[in-house]
Amino acid sequence: MEKTVVKKTRTQTTVRNFLPCDACSARAKFNVQFSFGELDFCSHHFQLHETVITTISISVQSLGGASNETKAE
Ligand SMILES: [Zn+2]
Repeated sequence: MEKTVVKKTRTQTTVRNFLPCDACSARAKFNVQFSFGELDFCSHHFQLHETVITTISISVQSLGGASNETKAE
């Protein structure tokens, strides 16, 4: 009897792979930390509120996009 061993590599897909924007359902591109909590924004809503965000936020973190932008698949 022939036994075929299929090696399965389990790729860990983190939940952070897809974060919806808090203002719409688009993919969030920015995670913004405020003193009252954190919000995720798509690029559209980030740009829309950029002035306010950069003024009152503690930190702005770019989600994905930046590192995954040049993926050749
Ligand atoms: Zn949005």
